[in-house]
Amino acid sequence: MDMLQGIPVSPGVAVAEAVVVLPRSARVRRRGITPEGVAGEQARLIDAVEKAHAELDRLQANTAASVGGDLARIFDAHRGLLNDSSLLNQLHATIQNEQVRAAYAVYSVFQRYADNFRNLKDPYLRERAADLLDLQRRILAHLEVDASPGLSAIDKPCVLIAPDLTPSQTASLDRALVRGIATDAGGRTSHTAILAHALGIPAVVGLERLTDLATNGETVIIDGNRGIVINEPNGSQMLEYRQELRREKQRSAVRAELRGEAARTRDGTDITLLANIEFPYEIAEAVKSGAAGIGLYRTEFVYLATEEDHAPTEDEQYAIYREAVMSLGGRPLTVRTLDLGADKYSDLVDDPGAVSEANPVLGCRSIRLCLQNLPMFKTQLRAILRASAVGPIRIMFPMISSILELRQAKLVLSDVREDLMEEGATFSSDIPVGMMIEVPSAALQARAFAPEVDFFSIGTNDLVQYTLAVDRGNERVAPLFSAAHPAVLMLLKDLIRGSARTDTPVAVCGEMAGQPEFTMLLLGLGLRQFSVTPPALTEIKQVIRQVSLPQCKRLAQKAAGFDSA
Ligand code: PEP
Ligand code: MG
Repeated sequence: MDMLQGIPVSPGVAVAEAVVVLPRSARVRRRGITPEGVAGEQARLIDAVEKAHAELDRLQANTAASVGGDLARIFDAHRGLLNDSSLLNQLHATIQNEQVRAAYAVYSVFQRYADNFRNLKDPYLRERAADLLDLQRRILAHLEVDASPGLSAIDKPCVLIAPDLTPSQTASLDRALVRGIATDAGGRTSHTAILAHALGIPAVVGLERLTDLATNGETVIIDGNRGIVINEPNGSQMLEYRQELRREKQRSAVRAELRGEAARTRDGTDITLLANIEFPYEIAEAVKSGAAGIGLYRTEFVYLATEEDHAPTEDEQYAIYREAVMSLGGRPLTVRTLDLGADKYSDLVDDPGAVSEANPVLGCRSIRLCLQNLPMFKTQLRAILRASAVGPIRIMFPMISSILELRQAKLVLSDVREDLMEEGATFSSDIPVGMMIEVPSAALQARAFAPEVDFFSIGTNDLVQYTLAVDRGNERVAPLFSAAHPAVLMLLKDLIRGSARTDTPVAVCGEMAGQPEFTMLLLGLGLRQFSVTPPALTEIKQVIRQVSLPQCKRLAQKAAGFDSA
């Protein structure tokens, strides 16, 4: 029996057999193709090799500029291999003779070469095997679409144990089979954690060494309420958790009774509860729990969850947004434009630079990526505008860090509006446009932003990350990630007050809004709109209904006097 303490990120308890998903090795399954498919696969190979070449050129130039030409020459070996005609001929011949996909040809040929090098006596040459495998991974990155081979094998109820999961892996989990998630890595507001919560799967992250201890098929208990994971529980622990499962059922029955009730404080102030979603199917649950609308639709999951080998087209996106608007029955849908990049990385976006960014969280992510990929951005905006013909939509830009960036995004939006008007498309002429405040520069400048937008939504996940310089997905610094840090509270207080003074509606849509321990504090700071993951709606409502505003204000005043989280 091993009992580990991690970070609870999605409530609930799960008891089931473990499926341990180890990091994806570079292994590529052999998949046959028809003789007619050979030319296409060879073309994909050429394209992937060219992209790898371009990437190496850029890497080499950047390395030379930053640390000098000597070090940059380490890439010469990789470039030399990419120019090696016998290697390239073998890749093409493997596709042709064995009738396999380009990815498999790259995998098998490079593997063979690397094995040969590994068997050599000369230590220098033996080390070249690592170069080969590095290059193999680089080319495969340009060929592969399927990023989650290990997870597709799950066919019975289980708890999933992994070093880490990417947001797209989490998004593609089968909720009926995966009863719980536990990972070595991750923090409370990592996107995997947010998704697990949204999917209603109990989850604990930041367990550091669980994958070393757990074995496939053994029973594991995941306690997403307390952040505890028990590997091979003993009899009394099993008994305790069976009882806990029964209590959970009772608690959810109590919450179900609250669904139809108003989110009103004891002294009679109505609070707006909105929901955060990643997928339109979450809307039904949100509406049932009394959400007044969707305060945050993370549309990047339209890209991350797609299994096609092309980015979602305008019509495909339109169909998704339209369905979302229709299922809201007149309640507003706040569509956040693509927030791709950093950990929400999609190989469907043609952005080779992303692979080599040293600091993706500070790099070309989110609105920056959109403004550098206008066709992609405009495709999404067209789809959103068209969907506004069937019901109320609000558009929200993420990660705005300067006024000029906001103006640029709004300019693209007006271009798209004009284009659609010329084409005679129908769409609403009255679409509120807002922005996320999740970068300290935007928080500090909120009053300057106010006249330019119809609403604000505070993304505390990123705001905490950027204010405290703490990676939200890194378990090693997770204890430093705190929305209760006095510096964060100061920003929130000024933001909420500034929004009221400028008559700009403001919501909080970061995870903080869905954590009941912060509800009174946020109410006391003046917040009247919460946007939370659907399973948290009734829990937050329960707190709101039990407190009065004067009580909350006293609490916020007291908290403002503390010098630590
Ligand atoms: C946030 O940063 O708080 C937020 C809501 O956006 P995301 O979690 O998608 O980055
Ligand atoms: Mg964010």
